Amino acid sequence: MEELRALIRDIPDFPKPGIVFKDITPLLASAEGLRGVVRAFSERHRAGVDFVLGIESRGFTLGAAVAYELGVGLALARKPGKLPAATYRATYELEYGSDALELHQDAFPRGSRVLVLDDLLATGGTARAAIELVEKVGGRVVEADFIIELSFLNGRKRLAPYPVHALVSYEKQ
Ligand code: AMP
Repeated sequence: MEELRALIRDIPDFPKPGIVFKDITPLLASAEGLRGVVRAFSERHRAGVDFVLGIESRGFTLGAAVAYELGVGLALARKPGKLPAATYRATYELEYGSDALELHQDAFPRGSRVLVLDDLLATGGTARAAIELVEKVGGRVVEADFIIELSFLNGRKRLAPYPVHALVSYEKQ
């Protein structure tokens, strides 16, 4: 996991002052790093998942690879107005204002066991909205998984009682 940390780059003051952005592009650029994270998620969920839900947009990259590796389908939780067919919407609070995610109403069959996947867990608002959407479509959330958890923001608490798993955790900015 130290190798994984070495492939995550801190970009201070992006996208705004005071935020330290965790940039995973060096990890995606590393053949070994990319294979390592995809394997970590897929070995954890082999035979236990029917669908992967990727959260826009870095969750798509990971989600597609993990779904492929597990031999299951991929569903996309997208920002409003991007999905063409009938959707459900879940809104969540941001520091200033709110945002929302949408999911196709027929994204997966009712009763599907769904793995929710994104690159990073911060306050948990985004993943919480994704979980709500899975429930609305009639799926069962197996776990919400992330490469990175910013544990000082307590996102895990916000996602309770759903199980959460992260490959690396940061205790401070
Ligand atoms: P949150 O809803 O607060 O848990 O934020 C999670 C979403 O915002 C994820 O889709 C992340 O990609 C993105 N995000 C939040 N904080 C950061 C950060 N410090 N570095 C990179 N991405 C972040």
